[in-house]
Amino acid sequence: MKGNNLFSIPCLVRRRLFHSLLMALLLTGGFMHDSSAAQPLRRPLTIRFQNLNGTVYLYMADVAAFYGMAMLVNDKEITYKSRYSTISFTVNNRLMTLNNVQYYLARPIIKNQYSFLIGKSDFELILEPILRPTIINPKRPVRTILIDPGHGGKDVGAVNGKDYEKDINLAVALRLANKLSARGFRIYMTRNKDSELSLDKRTRFANTIDADLFISIHCNSASPSANGLETYIATPKNDPPVGSTTVYKDNCPANKYDKANAYLAFYTQRSILQRTGVADRGVRRKRYYVIRNTNCPSMLIEIGFISSNFELANLKNPVYQEKITDGIVDGVLKYREAVK
Ligand SMILES: [Zn+2]
Repeated sequence: MKGNNLFSIPCLVRRRLFHSLLMALLLTGGFMHDSSAAQPLRRPLTIRFQNLNGTVYLYMADVAAFYGMAMLVNDKEITYKSRYSTISFTVNNRLMTLNNVQYYLARPIIKNQYSFLIGKSDFELILEPILRPTIINPKRPVRTILIDPGHGGKDVGAVNGKDYEKDINLAVALRLANKLSARGFRIYMTRNKDSELSLDKRTRFANTIDADLFISIHCNSASPSANGLETYIATPKNDPPVGSTTVYKDNCPANKYDKANAYLAFYTQRSILQRTGVADRGVRRKRYYVIRNTNCPSMLIEIGFISSNFELANLKNPVYQEKITDGIVDGVLKYREAVK
């Protein structure tokens, strides 16, 4: 394989693919077609796996074949390609780019001898729901949405000069509430004015009204040069959060909706990026209180950095707030379609 950095699916896999294709035709009477991701599926196909230090990894060549995608390898870069999707991975790296959206995997891609491996949970809880939303389970139709502007009252959140995060969160959340309400959703807000509210009250509110979706709005803060968009969902059981290798051994309430969360966060992140052109800091998984204790699909969006003077000017600008909220609405509508 050395000296030839670029190859498509190896012969062996291609032969397997042909056999599985035959099997799929025999067993299902043809190709199954997923309307949303529009990936032609060739199933059933055995995806080989390896158990390394207690973690199950799948052969990436088999995963590519499963999706009917070509797999290209260029040194440390692995690309899956089909007519509909492009996914880029890097060996020893957790960051994946799926159709121009960055997404943090639970585990880095591994090269083991001549094979490239991806964590089984990353296949099941990230790739699968996004590429084949028909497998999202449970499917909870969206009627009631709880919008949660972060902080409030004495808890001002992050600060830059005279500007408080709590005020930006509320302004954006109110816009979002109006837009989603106009789309026929039943909208509640954890707060619609400058009031203080514990994290516990926020999640209990979601569970009391039996919300179908929970959206928390926050602004980020770091060094003055940091900028960009992050969307967070709860970390699944047996996976580590972004930036850590320590896995969670227990389930949190939100884990019932791991697959829904993956799809929701992906399309929300993508839509906001498309609407605003802001830097992409990726979909991330972390067990923030409000997104781990809600009994429904939930996400927390860090809409930008209040600590960046440039982004702060944008975040306060009504035109920019319109773009952000339009992006969130796009994501929610796309998600509603997938689970209806
Ligand atoms: Zn915040």
